[in-house]
Amino acid sequence: MKESDIRNPNTHERYLQLVREDALAFFGDSSRLEETACPACGTRKFRAEFVKFGFTYGSCESCRTLYVNPRPKMGPLTEFYVNSPSSRFWVEEFFKPVAEARREKMFKPRAQHVAQLLPGQNRGKIGDIGAGYGLFLEELRRFWPDADFFAIEPSPEMAAICRGKGLGVAEVMIEDLQGADGTFAVLTAFELLEHLHTPETMIRKAFSLLRPGGYFLATTLSGEGFDIQVLWEKSRSVFPPHHLNFMNPDSLAGLCRRAGFEIEAAETPGVLDWQIIEGCSQRQEAPVGRFWETVARHGSAEAKQELQAWITKHRFSSHMRVVARKPLS
Ligand SMILES: [Zn+2]
Repeated sequence: MKESDIRNPNTHERYLQLVREDALAFFGDSSRLEETACPACGTRKFRAEFVKFGFTYGSCESCRTLYVNPRPKMGPLTEFYVNSPSSRFWVEEFFKPVAEARREKMFKPRAQHVAQLLPGQNRGKIGDIGAGYGLFLEELRRFWPDADFFAIEPSPEMAAICRGKGLGVAEVMIEDLQGADGTFAVLTAFELLEHLHTPETMIRKAFSLLRPGGYFLATTLSGEGFDIQVLWEKSRSVFPPHHLNFMNPDSLAGLCRRAGFEIEAAETPGVLDWQIIEGCSQRQEAPVGRFWETVARHGSAEAKQELQAWITKHRFSSHMRVVARKPLS
């Protein structure tokens, strides 16, 4: 997979500019922000690291999660997602043109992974939290034709598209989904946790919605990922108020355990870290440090491949995944 398959660089640049403007327009007034404890471990040992678009990012001294603090209050954050020009642009200009490419490069492999990982769940009730256009569920349905699929998607526009695909739809935020406790075999949440005001609330709700022995599978950004660590505040993945939480495999696993889950895997299957750094170096977008400049210019293709394989294997990719199970009793 190449970065350009899933992101158009020019559109991405324009999008980030809009986010910068929205951040100021929606949250320039500090009464719309509030102090928060660490979203992963709940302690308040916060060390400020840098400011971006007016938001302060810092590290938890206990679990090493990188997070925005103070952060937007829940109400204004929801309003931002519904009404901001950057959110609209993301759907219309950024996602739609690459949606089919993303189906091939991201959603199909995701579905294949879930089908292989959890073969015993193929007749159960499957929910995707923040399902968007329903691409993941559609792809999973090819593997599991007998399962029962639910898109949990609060946006009316996207919920309608999911309905059109014959998926069950709950047009609510997962926190507001009533009467379904103990019914789901699998709940997935792809690239969602980094956006949430309170990830713990969502994870605890997922726990109660699952039946005993059911699985929660989530992907998100790791703040200890290679490209994020090298680029830090210059990383394009670090953009508030969209990306508020950068947990790491340990802190995400810890959060799931506190909600009652058993951890089956906490890993970083990402493969784009090196390409992101090499691209930044070639385009001279941001300094990547002398050593990585040297590797980008003079390293062999094999060296670069092995580096990425090492990053992925040792849980230092910025694309992270957790697989958690609700205990049987
Ligand atoms: Zn923490």
